[in-house]
Amino acid sequence: MVVFEITILGANGGPFEYGTQCFVLRPAKTEDPELIAVDGGTGMHQLREMLAQGWDDNEGYDELVPSFYEHDREPIEFFIDSKLNIQKGLSKSLLQSLKRNKEHFEGANTTIKTFKLFEGITDYYITHPHFDHISGLVVNSPSIYERENTKKKTIWGLPHTIDALQKHVFNDLIWPNLPAVRSKKMKLRCLSPKKVEKCTTFPWDVIPFKVHHGIGVKAGAPVYSTFYIFRDRQTNDSIIICGDVEQDQRGCDEALLEEFWLYVADNIPLVHLKGILVECSCPLSSKPEQLYGHLSPTHLINELSNLSILYNSSRGLSGLNVIVTHVKETSAKRDPRLTILEELRFLAHERNLGDLRISIALGGHTLFL
Ligand SMILES: [Zn+2]
Ligand SMILES: [Zn+2]
Repeated sequence: MVVFEITILGANGGPFEYGTQCFVLRPAKTEDPELIAVDGGTGMHQLREMLAQGWDDNEGYDELVPSFYEHDREPIEFFIDSKLNIQKGLSKSLLQSLKRNKEHFEGANTTIKTFKLFEGITDYYITHPHFDHISGLVVNSPSIYERENTKKKTIWGLPHTIDALQKHVFNDLIWPNLPAVRSKKMKLRCLSPKKVEKCTTFPWDVIPFKVHHGIGVKAGAPVYSTFYIFRDRQTNDSIIICGDVEQDQRGCDEALLEEFWLYVADNIPLVHLKGILVECSCPLSSKPEQLYGHLSPTHLINELSNLSILYNSSRGLSGLNVIVTHVKETSAKRDPRLTILEELRFLAHERNLGDLRISIALGGHTLFL
């Protein structure tokens, strides 16, 4: 049964500025046009492109997707597991809910539709305040205060994210201090690590976990990011959506990833884990000093092996969808997403992880998990 509908607005890990990480989510079975977002690297521009394109019924399998390496377009099946339920564009069900619930939606032009669609994103869950995870949201944010926009937005995150957004972004220097506007249509709210919070829009629990994301360039202070678990309270089905991350360093007293996988194995039966959207930014050939707080295929497979051991299943992680996001584009001959996917599949096989379904997150597509 499909429980989660996830539209990937952006999944790039830079340095190209377009289409950086942002996912919008809704329950698969809902008639409402509301959405929540994880990260805000991309926003209204991609929503408008997707609205202009409409709903595509071809399930994507004869589709070409942008690559710009060996060829400018490559067949979609190069990037995804054959069992992944994916569709180009926004889902038919979302477009139908918009028509049903938003007045004059059908007759409006694509830009007015974009404002209405964006208005429906009630909550943003930000993983960390790096530009590639917030830039779309920041530039889009004045539209929250447009007269036609009647809805409020809440931006959620762990304190390391929310404090930085308030102090270093919405500070009237880098960007207007919109959360201070008297009507409070945009709010910043802190979450607590490991504390189950009820999603205000859907019957879901949201559980944030702090993870490591490298160290600062000058002072060497730790940089943190967030992994989110979204759990449907009716079915207990869950998905994990990750921000940038690096493995726990040996000898470091904060074993954050270890704690996270323990929580997952103890609280989410494997059959209820519908998918993990996780970064794997750099190929195997990267030197440790080139990772800058990210994962390579070896690291990601190590983490998945740890999870598999904790689940203690003879079939490894069979049936689990792992969707790889945030691949960094390099000046290479081959699309690094294809290199990383090949490396991950090879290592997963070598480590007996079972029928793990690994795919690349493709911007402009919707996943049904
Ligand atoms: Zn980052
Ligand atoms: Zn990033």
